[in-house]
Amino acid sequence: MAIQDCCSQPGLRPFADARADMLNRLEMVAETDFVPLERALNQLLAEPVASPLDVPSFANSAMDGYALRAEDIGDGRGLELIGTSLAGHPFTGRVGPGQCVRIMTGAAMPLGADTVVMQENCRSEHNIVTPCGPVRPGQHVRQAAEDLAQGEAVFGAGMRINARVLSVLASLGLEQVPVRRPLRVALLSTGDELKEPGELLAPGDIYDSNRIGLGAMLTRLGVEITDYGIIRDDPERIREVLLKAAARADAIITSGGVSVGDADYTRQVLEEVGEIGFWKLAIKPGKPFAFGHIGRCAFFGLPGNPVSAAVTFHLLARPALAKMAGERSSGPLLLQARALMPFRKTPGRMDFQRGIVAPQADGSLGAVPAGSQSSAVYSAMAEANCLLHLEQDRGDVAAGETVTLELIDGLYW
Ligand code: AMP
Ligand code: MG
Repeated sequence: MAIQDCCSQPGLRPFADARADMLNRLEMVAETDFVPLERALNQLLAEPVASPLDVPSFANSAMDGYALRAEDIGDGRGLELIGTSLAGHPFTGRVGPGQCVRIMTGAAMPLGADTVVMQENCRSEHNIVTPCGPVRPGQHVRQAAEDLAQGEAVFGAGMRINARVLSVLASLGLEQVPVRRPLRVALLSTGDELKEPGELLAPGDIYDSNRIGLGAMLTRLGVEITDYGIIRDDPERIREVLLKAAARADAIITSGGVSVGDADYTRQVLEEVGEIGFWKLAIKPGKPFAFGHIGRCAFFGLPGNPVSAAVTFHLLARPALAKMAGERSSGPLLLQARALMPFRKTPGRMDFQRGIVAPQADGSLGAVPAGSQSSAVYSAMAEANCLLHLEQDRGDVAAGETVTLELIDGLYW
């Protein structure tokens, strides 16, 4: 892996290029665990899943009403009510000519019957039921295997198990599912100024907010986190922790210390104990992002500024972890919106500004900046619901221009 820095490579690395290069250098960690459904949320399917049964496994009613034979309808005559089919309690007889069965939603269709008429569309007197209005043969019946046929492919390997996927897996009766072994991610913050929330701040100190935020994002991604806490700006100590972490983790995520300041040792240590892929990107925020390897362990050095750390995690570390975990993903859904206010932008770097997007009276989307765009102001970021993708060569954006953005609300951060 070539060692590059800002001096040996004049100009900054374009985002798409750096990202593709990074993804190329990562390998998938392919080990499989079998876990009970309750522990599968947020994990990735390790193998394709085919349906072990027909879903539904029997024809059943989609309505509360009467099950009957379509051919008996038309002459206006009443049908003899011969029984009831409830969900979980099928009618065991057979519906013959001129007969019907009271049936509830989800109850098995009785033999002989092929059609359901809603109870609202029937007159019922004594044991005689008379459907009124038009009846379409086969109506309101959910046919067996209508959803999935036995053996049919349901999900591919690499599918993220969200609540919807989990429900389908449960509907197939699966107790255990094959999932990829969760990535082991070591997380740490660097900086002499950092204190844990709850501690007293000495002059010049701040609270470590990156580790808790990054930890929250990683948790939502279903990885196994080892928290190495706050590491002082001491190259010896950083080396020791990175080597220890690299010995067991698939990836290390640090924040701080990757810039060009006097106490920015992370990059220096990485160069000594591992290899750096790139570390200066044409993006804003997040220019000093470091990517590399220590042995087989991938290393992601995020900038210390909280907004930069979160944005580079999302743009670079997140897809990298997805690749390592073998996640099937189609990338962010990019939307177009109209700038409702000017956005300040200098050509030269791709700018991922934090914005607030909302539908306008005409139904189109309109976006405004979410407060300060300083990479040190996280409170504005917490207000944002989208990340604008402002192209590298673009200058100031005037109100009315079209901008590209991705929604970040409801994702994992
Ligand atoms: P650095 O990348 O170490 O030069 O840090 C850049 C800025 O981010 C400095 O203002 C740091 O105090 C701040 N910073 C670094 N790490 C953290 C952290 N874990 N939480 C909050 N702010 C941080
Ligand atoms: Mg620092």
